[in-house]
Amino acid sequence: MSEETIHIARTRSEVQRCIRSARAESKRIGLVPTMGALHEGHLSLVRAAKRCCDFTAVTIFVNPTQFSPTEDFSKYPRTIDEDLKALRELGVDLVFMPEREELYPDRFSTYVLPPAVSDPLEGQFRPEHFRGVATIVLKLFNLLPADVAFFGQKDYQQCQVIRHMVEDLNIPVEIQVCPIVREPDGLAMSSRNRYLSPEDRVRAVALSEAVSEAARLVQAGMTDSAAVTKCMHDILHRAGVTKIDYATVADACTLKPIDQIDRPAVALIAVYVGATRLIDNTLLPAK
Ligand code: AMP
Repeated sequence: MSEETIHIARTRSEVQRCIRSARAESKRIGLVPTMGALHEGHLSLVRAAKRCCDFTAVTIFVNPTQFSPTEDFSKYPRTIDEDLKALRELGVDLVFMPEREELYPDRFSTYVLPPAVSDPLEGQFRPEHFRGVATIVLKLFNLLPADVAFFGQKDYQQCQVIRHMVEDLNIPVEIQVCPIVREPDGLAMSSRNRYLSPEDRVRAVALSEAVSEAARLVQAGMTDSAAVTKCMHDILHRAGVTKIDYATVADACTLKPIDQIDRPAVALIAVYVGATRLIDNTLLPAK
């Protein structure tokens, strides 16, 4: 089976050679960028790629430029043996797992100025984050020119940043956004969930409860953003989640705040549960 044919590339020239030969065979190429520590959320993107492409490439790279000096870059979980086992079992064709120097040599100094949609929300709390994301994603699109690239709605603002960048810079790739994969109790899967203590793991369910309550209220006819936002804050506070970066409602395309939910909108949350920063979101039913 395809287990034997997975190709692991560590250098730019190797990965480019591999993609060139898939292109020469007219294969439809799917790309799934990740930072590893893979869980079912990541694997759902891989399965989506396998369904609609003939050649699936996964990248595993903990991208230093999207972490601020105070964030968890050096502690970010790395589980490469388990990751490769899961990717082999799914029949992935190519895994690109470069060392830092391969993508950011000493002389590196060019960054993407990310689109305006990166300014609110995460942009306010992690000012350099999307510059790093846009830069690495563009580098990966250049090294692995795919027909389709797969991203998770879990990182809603990231998806919008990438969509806008692809449109603004005329990058010839289709972006597919896949639904959030959740634990049975609703917690959105995340590589960072493993940091949660048992007590924090219980508290963390409040994020998904808050966004699904927001969707329920809007479905029931509530259109006042402030009222929806207050309900989300109440749910978080009741669960003991008090360090809230944001829990808000925004325009689904621009991510600018809205007063009235009278257009496609999204409820988004970023909080600390213990020392772990978690995010969640849900689209709100359009009126
Ligand atoms: P990361 O490794 O955290 O950079 O994530 C790699 C890709 O997996 C991104 O496109 C994420 O949005 C996506 N992803 C992460 N968690 C989930 C999840 N629970 N459900 C769906 N996609 C996810």
